[in-house]
Amino acid sequence: MSPDLQRLIDLQRLETQIADAKAKIAAHPQRLAEADAQLAAATHLLDTAKDRLKDNQEARRALEKDVALYQGRLSKFRDQQSAVKTNKEYQALGHEIETAQHDLGGVEEKVIERMVEADGIAADVKQAEAVFAAKRKEIEAEKKRLAEELTETEAALKAATDARTALLGQIDPRLVSTFEQVARVRKGIAVTTATRDGLCSVCHVHLRPQVFQQVRHNDGIIQCDSCQRILYYVPPPPPAEGAVVNR
Ligand SMILES: [Zn+2]
Repeated sequence: MSPDLQRLIDLQRLETQIADAKAKIAAHPQRLAEADAQLAAATHLLDTAKDRLKDNQEARRALEKDVALYQGRLSKFRDQQSAVKTNKEYQALGHEIETAQHDLGGVEEKVIERMVEADGIAADVKQAEAVFAAKRKEIEAEKKRLAEELTETEAALKAATDARTALLGQIDPRLVSTFEQVARVRKGIAVTTATRDGLCSVCHVHLRPQVFQQVRHNDGIIQCDSCQRILYYVPPPPPAEGAVVNR
């Protein structure tokens, strides 16, 4: 392997690592926001269930006030009834009592309906609390993982950038310039392999036999005729020990 070619291969590896690390760092705030949004959705479900329970309790308290009101009215009529002098007055109050009893019965029924409903809502709240607790735990773990990943990525970026700086000092400036020109127009990939059947592995153009022959030697800087990327060749691995070889 030509030392120049090896350095360009190493430079490409570092450039790719740097680009990947930068993309990961750039995506970090979005991933954090997605985790927060998931937790916010679970919080919203829990709040909704709690609000329903609160509404139910308020409605029940209002009904219980009505119960007290009708009970008060009823006992007032009964007191009055025991004090009346005439049969007519007695009967009139009897009607009032009947009406008040009927109203009271209706409100008491509604109180019972609210109580039954409250049991269902309380079960919903309990379930939403369990879902929320599990989600919070999951999101906390996810955010911790994201923070660790960010620290690791930042360290990897620094290491790759330092290594790149050191490597650039060892490469002929004309080769660096070729590398940078190709990288600029080819989405950051200036060095790639030729496949075993003689294609550029990125643009998939068939290399001329003579060019492919040169690339296979890995002893110079050969560019793809089509995309201009610098090419190298990775020979197939030797057959594994114990593998059956046809002779
Ligand atoms: Zn190519």
